[in-house]
Amino acid sequence: MPPINDHLKTSMERTGKDYREVHEWIDADPAKKAERHEITKIYEYGKMMEERHGKEALEEYIRHIHDDIKAKFNHIQHDIEKAVTDTLSYFGVK
Ligand SMILES: [Zn+2]
Repeated sequence: MPPINDHLKTSMERTGKDYREVHEWIDADPAKKAERHEITKIYEYGKMMEERHGKEALEEYIRHIHDDIKAKFNHIQHDIEKAVTDTLSYFGVK
């Protein structure tokens, strides 16, 4: 998943603010990181973000989860393609 600095940069490009408090809340605590990415918590955490930091922060929180999902699946796709290529190559299939 993208490092925090990538999220800060993306928020800055989108809104003119880096929303560091949002991205650090999601990513910085290793013990809570997985829970804070849970899709089923979006309503609860999104509401909290909006109350704490405003509507744009809520949008940046959702965008953070979106960008992480996209990056993760791009990585998985790359791994699958490599596994398929390696397996075909192992059997001499071109
Ligand atoms: Zn994240």
